[in-house]
Amino acid sequence: MPALPADRKRVAWTSADSEELYGLPAWGAPYFSADAGGHVLVSPQGGGGASLDLYDLVTSLRQRDVELPLLLRFPDILADRIGQLYSCFERAIARYGYDGSYRGVYPLKCNQQRHLVEAIVAAGRPYCLGLEAGSKPELALALAVLEAHGDPSGTDGLLICNGYKDRDYIAMALLASRLGQTPVVVVEQLEELAIALELSHEFNLEPLLGVRAKLSAAGSGRWSASTGDRAKFGLSAPQLLAAVEQLRASGQLQCLQLLHFHIGSQIAAIGTIKAAIREAAQLYVALVQLGANLHYLDVGGGLAVDYDGSKTHSDASKNYSLQNYANDIAAEVKEACDRAGVALPTLISESGRAIAAHHAVLIANVLGINTPPELQPSAEIALSRSDSSSSDSSPAESEHALVRELRDTYAAIAPDNLQESYHDAVQFKDEAASLFDFGYLSLRDRARVERLYWACCRQIRDCLRTLPSVPDDLSHLEATLAATYYVNLSVFRSLPDSWALQQLFPILPIHRLDTEPSERATLADLTCDSDGRLDRFPSTSGHSKPFLELHPPVAGEPYYLGVFLVGAYQEILGSAHNLFGDANVAHVRVRPDGYQIEHLIRGDTATEILARVHYDAEDLVEALRRRTECAIASQQIALPDAQRLLRTYERGLRNYTYLEQ
Ligand SMILES: *Cc1c(COP(=O)(O)O)cnc(C)c1O
Repeated sequence: MPALPADRKRVAWTSADSEELYGLPAWGAPYFSADAGGHVLVSPQGGGGASLDLYDLVTSLRQRDVELPLLLRFPDILADRIGQLYSCFERAIARYGYDGSYRGVYPLKCNQQRHLVEAIVAAGRPYCLGLEAGSKPELALALAVLEAHGDPSGTDGLLICNGYKDRDYIAMALLASRLGQTPVVVVEQLEELAIALELSHEFNLEPLLGVRAKLSAAGSGRWSASTGDRAKFGLSAPQLLAAVEQLRASGQLQCLQLLHFHIGSQIAAIGTIKAAIREAAQLYVALVQLGANLHYLDVGGGLAVDYDGSKTHSDASKNYSLQNYANDIAAEVKEACDRAGVALPTLISESGRAIAAHHAVLIANVLGINTPPELQPSAEIALSRSDSSSSDSSPAESEHALVRELRDTYAAIAPDNLQESYHDAVQFKDEAASLFDFGYLSLRDRARVERLYWACCRQIRDCLRTLPSVPDDLSHLEATLAATYYVNLSVFRSLPDSWALQQLFPILPIHRLDTEPSERATLADLTCDSDGRLDRFPSTSGHSKPFLELHPPVAGEPYYLGVFLVGAYQEILGSAHNLFGDANVAHVRVRPDGYQIEHLIRGDTATEILARVHYDAEDLVEALRRRTECAIASQQIALPDAQRLLRTYERGLRNYTYLEQ
């Protein structure tokens, strides 16, 4: 047997080791941590507030018949994020002596779920947080939930109207000002300007207008195609000038009060943000100098979330803090305006991801685990017998030389020959494959070769784990040998960005963190789609890992995984692939003496999800009933079995679309 470094002292694994392994403090602070008992704690109010034990919470929800998968929302986290955003901008404003203020707006497209929007509006009230709409339905909900008192410079949140607009959209937005709202119609295409001017004349009101600039500073990363000269949205420099001239001609240049831009979401590099701000600040100055009555500079979204905790400009991270972001915006805008002698604008950001991502955690249970058959312990026991009369060979049959070679390779594996051993094993396996093709190797020997090959790989991998670094040509072994854990969720429904954009989300068990996770695994979801899997995981190095460290399941005990930072974009982009519906959702508030389940929103039943594709449950039951009657009549099924089928069918339609355990 290869020698493991025997002097490597084994100290007992603690929750702190798990925190480091999963990068918990790096991406989760101040909201998520592990306690000494190995459970994940959530501290929704951030640093100072009370904590909840996530495992206990899930257990108590299951006692209330709330089944998994389950999306937990912590509205206190939303409030804390909003508070952080404002305090960072306030600090930046003080630091640079910025003679102006900051107003946030929450972009609804990030997550429009009613209870979440209501929580954001309530938490944002002290800050005059506004809302941003990008479509008519979003505007419709914004008009109903955003409170307004006709006090634009005081306590009211702004209502920023973005996106492509038709007459109805613009009419609704303009008339909202009559209800005391402060709508800003942001012109994305010149045609919208003409409609806005015509309608405001008709309604006899003075509109608050903005323009969206198409910046030439290209973004970077995933959304870089949505910026720069070929961006889908926004006015180019000639179009901005045309807008100014159109407004001047109609005597309404004073209505143009806001300059907006948006360079994409999850902008990982601060350099990209700075370049965009610099360009936008110059545009702001230029438009003021042309006579526009600008007051607001709206920097759009893009403020990123550090999903892997690496603090790098990898797609899953960001190389700046919230404070850096606010500082750079305040500093760049102040510099450009001061230089030109232009009054400083009120700064607006439309930060969706940065407000919403942290507040939601998806909990799913592991249903089962699969390791390739070659790796199962019984095969290894057979291997360790070196005589050729092992149980699966008949005495008459002699062992092929390749089998012996591989057995010797296996026996010789040691930390100083891992690459050599691996390449030998590969060569023997390849030779065996060609010999088999030409009829020179029996199936039995081929099976032995394969078992031995996998045993070598496993042994080499185990040795690699004890080394400080892994040679490149062996780095795939962990992923190749990883177990598959089946989890009770649909990636398409609950984590669509991991499928569509290869986005990474932190995942870890919410209990057993005080013991070492000895397995390395990838995750497979319930859909019968080979894309329905998670096989890249965040790492604080900034390079993703092809496996996740997990514990072996314990028979009769649940094993719960938490997927964190899923509050932005996932719910609304999720799809009903394989007819898996919405997960159950619980809104949980911390209280000084425990917690309160403020809202419980049941996930879809099979009936509901079938209705979405236009099947009526009653019709389905009736169709099946008729079939059973025919089968009973022709004596293909006994009546009790037919009834059993019908009852199971009807219960299935009433129930949750996920697996029940
Ligand atoms: C998507 C979007 C946002 C939100 O972006 P985040 O990166 O989530 O903050 C803001 N403004 C506009 C115009 C958008 O399209």
